[in-house]
Amino acid sequence: MKYVICCIAFCFGMTSVSGQFLAKKEKLQKFEGFFNFHYSETEGNIYLEVDQLDTEFLYVHSLRTGLGSNDIGLDRGQLGGGEVVKFVKAGNKLLLIQPNLQFRAETDNELEKRSISEAFARSVLFGFEIKETKEATFIIDLTPFLLQDAHQVAQTLKNNKEGTYKLDKDRNAIWMERTKAFPKNVEFEAMLTFTGEPSGQHLRSVVPNPTSISVIQHHSFVELPKNNYKPRAFDPRSGSYPMSYMDFSTPIWEPITKRFIMRHRLEKKDPKAALSEAKEPIIYYLDPGTPEPVRSALLEGARWWNEAFEAIGYVNAFQVKMLPEDADPMDVRYNVIQWVHRSTRGWSYGSTISDPRTGEIIKGHVSLGSLRIRQDFMIAQALMNQPFAASDTNHQQMLDMALARIRQLSAHEVGHTLGFAHNFAASTNERASVMDYPHPMLRLKNDTVDISEAYATGIGAWDKVTVAYSYGDVPAGMDETTYLRSILKTAFDQGLRYITDSDARARGGAHARAHLWDNAENASEELEAVLALRNKAISNFSEENIRAGEPYSVLEDVFVPLYFYHRFQTEAAVKLIGGLEYDYAVKGTDETIVKTLPKEEQQNALSAILTTLDAETLAIPEAKLNLFPPRAYGYWRTRESFKSNMGVAFDALGAAATASDMTLGLLLHPERANRLVQQKALDPKTIGLEDVLNQLVKATFSPSGKTQYQKEVQNTIQYRTLQQLMQLSLHKNALPQTKGMVNETIDRLARELSKKEDAFSKQLSREITIFRTKPENFTSVVVPEIPDGSPIGSFQCFTIHP
Ligand SMILES: [Zn+2]
Repeated sequence: MKYVICCIAFCFGMTSVSGQFLAKKEKLQKFEGFFNFHYSETEGNIYLEVDQLDTEFLYVHSLRTGLGSNDIGLDRGQLGGGEVVKFVKAGNKLLLIQPNLQFRAETDNELEKRSISEAFARSVLFGFEIKETKEATFIIDLTPFLLQDAHQVAQTLKNNKEGTYKLDKDRNAIWMERTKAFPKNVEFEAMLTFTGEPSGQHLRSVVPNPTSISVIQHHSFVELPKNNYKPRAFDPRSGSYPMSYMDFSTPIWEPITKRFIMRHRLEKKDPKAALSEAKEPIIYYLDPGTPEPVRSALLEGARWWNEAFEAIGYVNAFQVKMLPEDADPMDVRYNVIQWVHRSTRGWSYGSTISDPRTGEIIKGHVSLGSLRIRQDFMIAQALMNQPFAASDTNHQQMLDMALARIRQLSAHEVGHTLGFAHNFAASTNERASVMDYPHPMLRLKNDTVDISEAYATGIGAWDKVTVAYSYGDVPAGMDETTYLRSILKTAFDQGLRYITDSDARARGGAHARAHLWDNAENASEELEAVLALRNKAISNFSEENIRAGEPYSVLEDVFVPLYFYHRFQTEAAVKLIGGLEYDYAVKGTDETIVKTLPKEEQQNALSAILTTLDAETLAIPEAKLNLFPPRAYGYWRTRESFKSNMGVAFDALGAAATASDMTLGLLLHPERANRLVQQKALDPKTIGLEDVLNQLVKATFSPSGKTQYQKEVQNTIQYRTLQQLMQLSLHKNALPQTKGMVNETIDRLARELSKKEDAFSKQLSREITIFRTKPENFTSVVVPEIPDGSPIGSFQCFTIHP
């Protein structure tokens, strides 16, 4: 309410201004706030009053309106970062300068401070001619600054190969709808139009006229928080985002790089009370444009966090409300959860604006992609047994699953803006964190797929640890470092694990427990369970998985997430092969430093992985193929569809090529292969690259007594195996030892194939001969591209901060 009153008081007053420059202007509208400024309706200009030189403030730019394309990545509500800046006078100019905060001298010695600030470059962001001086106040024309492409829209379009665009001055204008002044911030907007010729595909699909692209760019000048905020030290085990800088005044025996966490400010009203309200609760506001039932799901999921704040002694310290209708989501005083529409499904993200000096989060801004909930719905639709047999409206269970996902998504993205990183090991701790990427956990019960436990509810055990570390008050008489370490020790003693992006995302990754979109403690056992469930769901799959009147092309698209249902668990299990067990251990704890995974665990993983290369796993049953006719008119293949090398026909061999190539690319990743060479050298009893190659060739090339169709699927898998072996043997990052073993395997295959008389074996022999003659000419044959997988239920997740 307070903000609304401010708005009325400061936004709409029109008074005349004295002074020579402004006095000559007509119809000036004056805004009073953190900076006073004037809008000339006749000129369309904004004149800023600068009365505090050399005073630092925060400058943030963002996009209020977007392009609506996940691929281009210029979304509604996208934050562009936050920079500390100040106005400095130089002759007849004011310069807007961004000081260098990466290198500091935190000392009282002014000369030492100066030596550091002079050693590193600053950035002058803009120069303004002083139009009028009135005592200590300077009037400048802010318009050219506001009308520049601060958000780098043109560069983003160019980077995405969408064309070369430039600002068209005749079509740019200050946009007054949300240009406002408040006591601690001023907000400006400009309608920017970019003109050019489109060269990519995405722009054409989302812009009415792709030669002219208009967006509203938002600028905020914000007062920096007062200095009584106490930064909290970063610990790599804490689950918090770090911010760092170098302090050159540090004694030689101490680390020069200072690391702190990013968090909101939170203080108890009554610091002595075990339970207290906060002086200023952390409040998030939901975009009122969010429709039901998503609205209630997002509110509920985000509110889970309050339980973690209660656990550290706060009452109602974390709240989620609807954003008032007249409030501006880009206003930096509001933490916002925004529901963002794009033409294709895609990632969501949680961004923050923080004080670069201290890591204090000033604004959290969550953007949730609206389309992906439909994909989650479709996963349920594909997995259920004949859901639409009796009724076309039998979708409640699917909707419930999709909404369960959205609740968790809301909590996840808000978690980023509270300062928390992903914990990709949490799914091995009984879904201990909303900061993991959750795969729906479906189970076979009485021979049917049960989706009721697909997603966990409520805040996780690990999330309470991160809130305690980042926001917990240090008990009186206790040293902060001791207190923070005790929180982590208790967590790890309970068996909780924390591993984040850098150790979980890479295709060649090695961590045995940190995976994206996985479930359960043991990745290979879960892969076996996932394959069994997939097998059952495929056998159940029928035309009753779509509604009456829908074309069979829709059924084919519904089949996609089912056919590739094992993709993420495969990626998890493959990391056990040549895998490592480790924590972000620090000296003085009993955490795991690093261990090679036991042979048995690696072997079990390899056996499970080889099942994903079995023709029986990858051959779509012949009866099901009869359900996939050429695409219906108007229902073309999209990025979400199976691709085909057979024209209009459904490409069952192509689907097997895609799926097998996915596994092989992971299994034969050069980093994994190199690791296997090293681990065998260190422990001759364990599994090595040779063992993996031998078992792979045996599994894929052994004769099978299957149908002719399954034999063709197996031939497809064999071809992909050979292609991937050739590729690894030439990979620039493969060790010579790796290349040697792979080449031996190819030679052995060549000898075996030369004994065979069938056309396919002869073709493989021919290709090996060509490869041996001119390996430099080898390029892997392209397989039909795998349809989009991630994100399941709209996830991304990166944080923007200075
Ligand atoms: Zn995330």
